[in-house]
Amino acid sequence: MGGICQKGTFPHVGRSFLPRLCNQCGHPQCVDVCPTGATWKREEDGIVVIDPDICIGCKYCILACPYDSRFLNPVTGAADKCDFCQHLVEKGQVPSCVNTCVGEARIFGDLNDPESEISKRMATNSTAVLRPGMGTEPNVYYIGLEHADEHDADGTRGRHVKVTTHRKQQARS
Ligand code: SF4
Ligand code: SF4
Repeated sequence: MGGICQKGTFPHVGRSFLPRLCNQCGHPQCVDVCPTGATWKREEDGIVVIDPDICIGCKYCILACPYDSRFLNPVTGAADKCDFCQHLVEKGQVPSCVNTCVGEARIFGDLNDPESEISKRMATNSTAVLRPGMGTEPNVYYIGLEHADEHDADGTRGRHVKVTTHRKQQARS
C-alpha cells in the first residue's frame, strides 16, 4: 500500500511516493476495538496479528486504524493486513518487501538490539512516523519524510500535501 504525495505550489510542484504499511503500533487502536480478541499484539516481537478463525468480520478494526492499513479479505471474510511476513520472521528471515526492494529502501530488524542495522540507522538519521498525534506509537519509521499527516492543515507544508490511497480513489469513482 502506498500513497502519492503532491506537494508545493505552482509552479514549484512535485510528486513523491510514500510506501505505507501496518505500523505494528505500540498502542494499536485496531486491537482496542476488537470485540472478539481476534487481533492482538504479540509479546515476543510486537507484531500485530489476526486470527481469521476468531474474526467475525465486523470491520471495527478497519474503521479504527488511522492508517487505512486493514481490509476485509474477500477470500476468508476476515480482517487482513501486513503482518511483517510473520511466517518469514519466525524463520529468522526478513519480510518480502525488504528482500525484494530493488532500491534497498527498507530496513527491518530488532530495535532492542543496539548492534542491529536498524538500530544503527536510527541512531545516525533523523526519523519520523506517520500521524504521530494519533497516540498509536507506530513502529515504522521514515527517513526524509516530507509530511507526517495527510490531515494536518497546520503550516505551509501541510496545506499543500495530499495523500491519495487506492481505496480512496475507488470510493470516489
Ligand atoms: S497501523 Fe493500523 S492496523 Fe496496524 S497496528 Fe496500527 S492501528 Fe493496527
Ligand atoms: S473485523 Fe475481526 S479482527 Fe477486526 S474488530 Fe472485527 S472481529 Fe476483530
